[in-house]
Amino acid sequence: MATTEARVHDLPPRWDGFPVVWGEWTDEIPSTYRLHAEDLGACGRCGSLAPMEHSRGTVDVPDRRPLALFVTRCTDCRHDVVLDADDVAWDLEPADYTDGGSERPAGPPPAPRRFPPRRPAPPPPAPRPTGRPLPADSTPCGRCGARIVWAITVAGPNGRGGKSQPLDPHEHPDGNVAVSSPRRGRLLARALMADEQHDPHTEFLAMPHAATCRRTT
Ligand SMILES: [Zn+2]
Ligand SMILES: [Zn+2]
Repeated sequence: MATTEARVHDLPPRWDGFPVVWGEWTDEIPSTYRLHAEDLGACGRCGSLAPMEHSRGTVDVPDRRPLALFVTRCTDCRHDVVLDADDVAWDLEPADYTDGGSERPAGPPPAPRRFPPRRPAPPPPAPRPTGRPLPADSTPCGRCGARIVWAITVAGPNGRGGKSQPLDPHEHPDGNVAVSSPRRGRLLARALMADEQHDPHTEFLAMPHAATCRRTT
């Protein structure tokens, strides 16, 4: 994935103007973040199923308790998602890696200081049924309540496979996972490369639920 835009900093040096100290990258997920990180499953940007890297940040805010940040990075496309102290997930953009860090937009001065900053993670496309239903029973997503189906990933350039991956229950034209069903009820998921097509005769084109999940808690 050609997405390694040059970043001035590896991670935002500031968060809404306040300095952030980031820890080492690790593939360990602190227990307090396990639910969040496991639910990410595939990268919401490139769909990669490669193991994610994580780091924790501390924001020093005058006269407040330091705020905790938790970032998850896709090891394929380097897309970062930051979970803030209010449990809101933010997709980072190129500007966030500059000296100014991740800032709320300039505007009429100080609205009451509130976290998170203004720019919410891009609203995922509403997960509407757009195609054939995947041939498996759906269950409610534990985070947003939407219907999902579970698939097992197969080995490929993105990883060794064997992981459970939640998918939206209907085919989606923008999906990046080819799903086959050798036996009804058991889905196999294969992440598609950027210019790879699925075989519509034998496979379904599915959207990773990680890309559309609207977490409510
Ligand atoms: Zn990615
Ligand atoms: Zn969900």
